[in-house]
Amino acid sequence: MPYTSTKAFVLGVMPLKEQDKLVHLLTADRGILKAMAPGSLKVRNRFGALFELFTEGDFVYYWREEKELITISKGEILNSYFFTVSRPENIFYFYLVAEVLLKFVPFQHKDKRVYRLLHTILENGAGGIEMDMLLLYFLIWILRIEGMMFNPWNCANCFRKKIDEAWLKNDFRGILCRSCKTNEQLFLNKEDLSYIRWTRENTPKDCALWQDKIDPAHLIRIFKRKIEYHGEFALKSSLYLEEFR
Ligand SMILES: [Zn+2]
Repeated sequence: MPYTSTKAFVLGVMPLKEQDKLVHLLTADRGILKAMAPGSLKVRNRFGALFELFTEGDFVYYWREEKELITISKGEILNSYFFTVSRPENIFYFYLVAEVLLKFVPFQHKDKRVYRLLHTILENGAGGIEMDMLLLYFLIWILRIEGMMFNPWNCANCFRKKIDEAWLKNDFRGILCRSCKTNEQLFLNKEDLSYIRWTRENTPKDCALWQDKIDPAHLIRIFKRKIEYHGEFALKSSLYLEEFR
């Protein structure tokens, strides 16, 4: 049986059968992998805290040609973000990040930027950046990586450039200027548009710049709806966030 190892983030764990867990791993160069961790539900098991949400580990695994599931034989923790992820004020934001990754990123998608994005979010979360700003940054970037972010500069109808107020099209695939809009409801003001453009070239480390300029909850709701629209699913973990109450 072929063996290999990979660096990966744990995206989620569920019981598989009797004593085994099903683990979803986000790897840097092989996309998302579904893995079985045999014996991991036993009280004493060789994996310890390896499978906490968003632990970054080095995983050794093998597979059989005919099977979709890989099997993890061992692993070690490279970075634990447990302290940051499990804080009561953070945990539901991270559940939503995990749900978006699992539902929205195709398993075969091997874009390294997804891995780097998650790493950036976790590092900045550990560094004390506000979680709502990190979630917003994450949603915008995951759309960009998956090729579904609209152009935040130009009207999608008349192509007027650098507009400073916009209405998001009802199919979420572009923005319209005041002359082109009809019944669209989702409004983006000048600062919202500037922020979206800013994320392209900047890391969330500097997002304090935007603190009193944008309403992150408003933008989080828009981009969550956009992801749900394109993915044709509902993001259940958003129910627990104050942004959606
Ligand atoms: Zn227009």
